[in-house]
Amino acid sequence: MMIGMKQGSNDERHRAVFDIAGRKVGGEHFTVIAGPCTVESRDQILTSADAMLTAGATMFRGGAYKPRTSPYSFQGLGQEGLRLLAEAKERTGLPIVTELMDVRDVEAVCEVADVIQVGARNMQNYTLLSEIGRSGTPAILKRGLSATLEELVMAAEYILKEGNEKVLLCERGIRTYEPAYRFTLDLMAVPVLKEMTHLPIIVDPSHAAGRRDLVPSLSLAAAAVGADGIIVEVHPEPDEAICDGPQQLRLEDFPAYLEQVERVAQAAGKQLSAAAV
Ligand code: PEP
Ligand code: MN
Repeated sequence: MMIGMKQGSNDERHRAVFDIAGRKVGGEHFTVIAGPCTVESRDQILTSADAMLTAGATMFRGGAYKPRTSPYSFQGLGQEGLRLLAEAKERTGLPIVTELMDVRDVEAVCEVADVIQVGARNMQNYTLLSEIGRSGTPAILKRGLSATLEELVMAAEYILKEGNEKVLLCERGIRTYEPAYRFTLDLMAVPVLKEMTHLPIIVDPSHAAGRRDLVPSLSLAAAAVGADGIIVEVHPEPDEAICDGPQQLRLEDFPAYLEQVERVAQAAGKQLSAAAV
């Protein structure tokens, strides 16, 4: 039996709702996960986390381990990055979302992460998925660059099969023949995945677009099509960012952006999941 495929339905009242660090995820709850692409410094992380808390984001994101296209690019601060995320969590109370790339880091990442992110490039790293399943820590599974929805759902099964029920699926853009933007955001995946599985579906407009100016409209579209949340990149100084600078929203623009997203989510029948319950 496919664990993730039970109760698939577009009716929000019949979908899975998880409690993650006191936040409700899925169903009639809209989750906004925001923060920089990568952990760069103490100041950058604490400034960002404070701003996300004030604006009303649900969770805070930041990568300590980064899957970079070039092995010569910055690979993340590693352990030091995890330590800074722990400090941000202690200070703001925001749950932490951070990427795990290597099974050898599972314990260290689980100590800090309320949600483990599996990057698009690791969607079919089955030993990593099984290990995350055994860890019991909730996970966001990002769709691979050229993965079908069926492949995404089957990859989620590797986590679910180990008894870890808290898996969120994430559409982050796929590779198509269109070169005018970084990836093609497949928003049709949201309602179709909802027919295939009961799991919450979130959208990453930042990595799909690769450009800040496209992020607000893609986010509104994601909320309108019924996504259960958004994971979006925000940075205090995007022009100085070590990676993904051009796509990261500016901190000062985030409150107005979030207000708009919240309005559309409400129109789609969802409430922003912010305050701890
Ligand atoms: C990220 O979230 O910073 C990231 C690298 O995403 P993806 O795996 O979707 O490219
Ligand atoms: Mn990024």
